[in-house]
Amino acid sequence: MAKNKYKIATLGSHTALQILKGAKDEGFETICICQKGQRKLYESFGVADKIIDIDYFKNFPKIEDQLIEENAIIIPHGSFITYVGHENVKKLKVLHYGTKDILEWESDRVKERQWLKKAGLKLPRIFKDYKEIDRAVIIKFHGAQGGFGYFIANNPSEFEERIADYPKRKKYVIQEYIVGVPIYTHYFYSRVKNELEVMSFDKRYESNADSIGRIAAKDQLDVDIQTSYTITGNIPLVVRESLLSRIFDMGGRVVKTSQDLVPGGLFGPFCLEAILDPNLNFNVFEISARIVAGTNCYPNGSFYTWIKYNKSVSTGRRIAMDIKEAAEEGCMEKVLG
Ligand code: AMP
Repeated sequence: MAKNKYKIATLGSHTALQILKGAKDEGFETICICQKGQRKLYESFGVADKIIDIDYFKNFPKIEDQLIEENAIIIPHGSFITYVGHENVKKLKVLHYGTKDILEWESDRVKERQWLKKAGLKLPRIFKDYKEIDRAVIIKFHGAQGGFGYFIANNPSEFEERIADYPKRKKYVIQEYIVGVPIYTHYFYSRVKNELEVMSFDKRYESNADSIGRIAAKDQLDVDIQTSYTITGNIPLVVRESLLSRIFDMGGRVVKTSQDLVPGGLFGPFCLEAILDPNLNFNVFEISARIVAGTNCYPNGSFYTWIKYNKSVSTGRRIAMDIKEAAEEGCMEKVLG
C-alpha cells in the first residue's frame, strides 16, 4: 500500500497546525476542515493542501463523504472530540486514526477513574459527600472547559458558602487537592512498532492560579481572591531523569489495561495529567486519550524525541510516521480504529 494513497485530515483548531505540518514532513497530502472565518489563518501557515469550509464543527458528518472520496484519514484532537462528540465519532465511516471506543472511557469521569485505578495508578481521593471534607479539595464541574469555574474548599462550611455561587451547577466532583506541581506527560504508543514512547512534557499556564504568587499574601486576603484554573497556555518542561522509568511504567500499564477494556486498546498519542507531590508520588487526575495541546510546545521535537530520532519529530509528525509505516508494512488495521 503506497503511503501517498492516503491523505491526512483534521479540524482547524487545537493541534491542527502541528498535525498537518507533521503529515507534510512525512510526504502526505493534507486537508484542513475550517470553521467560518478560520480559512485565512490556516492558509497563512501553508500546511494544508486543501481547505474544506464548514459552518460549524458540529456539522462535520455533513462533509464526511467528501473525506471518504479523498481517502483521507481523520486525526482526532481535543476540539474534534468536543465538537463532534464521542458518541458521534463512533458512528463515523471516514478512516479514523485511533481506537474510537476508548474515547468513551476518557470522557466519563467514573469510567476514567476505573481505568486508571485498574492500571494501578495513584489517584486523588474523591469525596462522595461534602460533609466528609477534612482537607483541601478541588471542586470540578462536569463539562467544565479548560478548568474554568473550579474552586477550592477546605471544610464543609467553605464548600456550602462557595457552591452557593453556582446554583445551576448540579453535577460536580469533589476531589482531594494535591499540593505539588502539575506534570503532563505526552506519550505515544505504536501498535505498528509495539513500543511506548515518552514524547515530551508540559505544565499548564492557568489563570489566576499562576499569578496569585505575584501579590503578597496580605493583599490576597484583603481582596478575597479565590483560586481558579482557567487554562490559557502551555509551558515546556523536562523532568528529573530519575523519574523517567516510573513514567514509562505508568504509561505501559495504562496501555495494557486499555486492551482489557476495549478491543484493540489505546494507541497513538495520549497524556497522563498528574500532580507530583513532594514525596515524588504521581497523583494522576486525568487521562486524555488523544493528542493534547501541550505538544504544541514542540513543533521541532522535544529533548526526548531529539535523542531518540536525531531529527525533528513532533507528536503530529509521529502520528504521520505511524500511518506511513503501517501503509508500508501493509498493516493499516494497526492505525485505524
Ligand atoms: P483539569 O481540568 O482536570 O485538567 O484540571 C485543571 C487544573 O486544575 C490542573 O491543571 C491543575 O492545576 C488543577 N488540578 C486539577 N485537579 C487537581 C488536584 N486533584 N489537585 C491539585 N490540583 C488539581
